[in-house]
Amino acid sequence: MAELWEDVLRDKLAIQEAALVAVDAALLEGVLMRTEREPNASDVVNYAPFTLLPSAVPSALFEQAYAVQQDFNLLVDAVSQNKEFLEHTLASTIKVDDFTARLFRIHMQVLEEGLAQSVFLGINRSDYMFDCGVDGTPALKQIEINTIAASFGGLTSRTVAVHGRVLKVLGKSKEASRLLPNNPSKGLALGIAKAWELYGSQTAVVMFLVEEVQRNIFDQRCVENELWNRNIRVIRKRFRDVFEKGSLDDARRLYMDGQEVAVVYYREGYVPKNYDQQNWEARLLLERSRAVKCPDIATQLAGTKKVQQELSRPGTLERLLPGRAEAVARIRATFAGLYSLDMGEEGDKIAATAIADPDRFVLKPQREGGGNNLYGEELRQVLEKIRDSPERTSYILMDKIKPQPARNYLLRAHSPLQVSECISELGIFGVYVRQGTEMVMNKAAGHLLRTKAIEHADGGVAAGVAVLDTPYLV
Ligand code: ADP
Ligand code: MG
Repeated sequence: MAELWEDVLRDKLAIQEAALVAVDAALLEGVLMRTEREPNASDVVNYAPFTLLPSAVPSALFEQAYAVQQDFNLLVDAVSQNKEFLEHTLASTIKVDDFTARLFRIHMQVLEEGLAQSVFLGINRSDYMFDCGVDGTPALKQIEINTIAASFGGLTSRTVAVHGRVLKVLGKSKEASRLLPNNPSKGLALGIAKAWELYGSQTAVVMFLVEEVQRNIFDQRCVENELWNRNIRVIRKRFRDVFEKGSLDDARRLYMDGQEVAVVYYREGYVPKNYDQQNWEARLLLERSRAVKCPDIATQLAGTKKVQQELSRPGTLERLLPGRAEAVARIRATFAGLYSLDMGEEGDKIAATAIADPDRFVLKPQREGGGNNLYGEELRQVLEKIRDSPERTSYILMDKIKPQPARNYLLRAHSPLQVSECISELGIFGVYVRQGTEMVMNKAAGHLLRTKAIEHADGGVAAGVAVLDTPYLV
């Protein structure tokens, strides 16, 4: 296949000029991030890294990813309500992984007390790469599904305009007009607004639970803005604030500083470093409350890598989604090979295979946020060390996806303009709202394309590896 922007990539001067326009367009559109030096102030901000050119995405795979999103929403929701499945699936993991164990303990504790929450809001992002088969035909393969703090829905709502401008500057107006509109921030906000409405108190607020370090605040502000535009009040608080000022009344309504909270939208709480003892207590308070948590702790657990691996076992999807054979088939078609490292013959065998041929696999611990997976020689060394120890059950193995690289320019503040061989990861945002047993909203809410240089095996935009991109359907 000829490269998408081959003619453009040959013209260095045109590229340089377009890059200048691109950066200003990004600033103008609000594709922004705070700086590493001043992560908690907006006096100095910069553009979030992005590609100069939109990247080619096969349109059939793009449509396939959208078409399966409502199925994934149903699946995540079903897993979150299935106490036995979560208990059984995570049994080996929580023996060796303290973080997952603590989350799990809170999950059990709130179930024992009885849930006060009756409205449920899920915002997830299912991520895929385009695997190149032996014959070169690309296939859509899921990398993971993020059920907590799935980010960049805000900023990516603003990258289409930037890439449209770049294409026009490069004399490609027709191509610019083919870029698809995309507005996840609105879709996410509609979900939050629906949950807020069903909670049923006009004076209650939506609380964004945010990190201590807030470089990516503008991404969140995009969603906040959509809520303010609907006259829904938004407050931003950290776990620390909840510990100090949060309380429950007799009906377990959640109050912050005397203000009732209808929805808690977590943009925090997904990695161990987010928690000290006080923050764990704050998390428990939130989970016990009647407020709509996005996600509740069960839904966070449904997004673990261990759950992903167990879902790929024959028969599991059928059990979780009875009577939905077509949804099951659509979901299964996106699965790459996933393997349990639980103690026993099955785990011994796959560990030996991976040690012998590490480049076929990725070794994944139960962590989020990028930069945690192991590849190649490092995978082999670690697995060799833990192959006979229960420690291995804190990981899963996954087939390595091998996409076809394409050339692009990754624009980053203070970095020289140079061409890179790149691969992309497509994410689809899913939003759903359930009231009791009734699904009242189930949608795909937009997409996110992230692109990185092939030298990096791992890592997202926040980790400083991938950059924002826009799909150009081919
Ligand atoms: P995290 O929760 O840290 O985001 P991911 O499963 O998304 O974990 O992995 C992080 C990154 O590692 C992905 O964005 C992707 O670039 C790379 N990666 C993960 N799984 C695979 C795989 N099976 N094949 C190739 N690359 C992968
Ligand atoms: Mg990821």
